[in-house]
Amino acid sequence: MRRINLRKAQAARLNTIRDINRQIVLNYVREREPISRAEIARETQLQRSTVSAIVESLEHEGLVEEIGEGKSTGGRRPTLLRLRSKEAIAIGVSITPTLTTVATSDLAGRVIAQEDFLTNADPDDALKQIIEHARRFKESNPRIEGVGISLPGLVDPDTGTAIYVPYFKWRDLPVAERITSAIGLPVVIDNDANAVALAELWFGRPEVSDARDFIMVLVAEGVGTGIVFDGQVYRGQRGAAGEFGHMIIGTHAPVECSCGNRDCWEAFSSEGAAVARYAKSSRGENEPPRNFKELVDRALEGERHARFALVETALCLGIGISNLVVGFSPEVVVVGGEIARAWEFVEGALTETIEHSVRRGLPSALILPSTLGEKPTLRGALSLVLASKFAAAFAA
Ligand SMILES: [Zn+2]
Repeated sequence: MRRINLRKAQAARLNTIRDINRQIVLNYVREREPISRAEIARETQLQRSTVSAIVESLEHEGLVEEIGEGKSTGGRRPTLLRLRSKEAIAIGVSITPTLTTVATSDLAGRVIAQEDFLTNADPDDALKQIIEHARRFKESNPRIEGVGISLPGLVDPDTGTAIYVPYFKWRDLPVAERITSAIGLPVVIDNDANAVALAELWFGRPEVSDARDFIMVLVAEGVGTGIVFDGQVYRGQRGAAGEFGHMIIGTHAPVECSCGNRDCWEAFSSEGAAVARYAKSSRGENEPPRNFKELVDRALEGERHARFALVETALCLGIGISNLVVGFSPEVVVVGGEIARAWEFVEGALTETIEHSVRRGLPSALILPSTLGEKPTLRGALSLVLASKFAAAFAA
């Protein structure tokens, strides 16, 4: 049971129960759409009149819409509800070391419009570019409520500051403040792995989103982890938790870590590490792939060196995951990034390492590929805005 935090607790207001019921109904629509008022009343055991009143107010707020009639179970045919999907309500910005993506989505997280451009290494130019795209989206979508941004580095979500982004050496960049003052929308920022963990929690496959405790491992240019405890992302002091990419798992990694060392988990398990392994094992026999995506494509086409590089990388990834499983005992570890596409080649190496290290008798974790698709960090960025619409706004 969670101890009440008196510094954060607010005395229960008269409308707390109504708020809770409202969130429950909204989440029923989100997870079970299309669903009727009667079904919601039956499942929640709320009175029909209460459900109808809540749905009316959700419709009024533009969160829920009617989509016609369902099958009759005897009487009148029930009207079905779903999340309102016509308009863009969130802007997501995914900043990666190579590419920046700015996109809009509806309430359910479906991407409506998307623009990609190369990430500018200069922080002022990078923000200027993002502001231009976001402003255009805002002007053509009057219902947009906020901007979520995922960054590959250390981020303080409370102040909206990028504390340190190693790839571009950005330090103490007031990202949220700059963008808010330029376009007048609230901005939420977070580290990429935390943002993806949030997306898994709200939009992931049921085995992940229904787990109270899980760890998301994001394999990209670096390796990041987002930890979900008791249904929320664990952030630590100033959002710095989850920097397991820099735990030491060996020496002489195939590439340098973003921190400059060659003994970090990231230096053994990142996309760059896999590409470097390919170059070494093929010894000029084949032109090395230009990037990890191409390496995965080649593995899927059956190329030997590509498959070898993936398996070797998965063995190292598995060592780090084993350490996390032993220490945290999560229900699930979900692995995201381009590597999820190559699951058939990496699954064996991953589970083998993990089973070997997790002591007999201790519970192991389910290891699953992410289902967030090609751009998990974009889904993460959008979730930073969307999750707050569905999350409980009251202190539990
Ligand atoms: Zn490192």
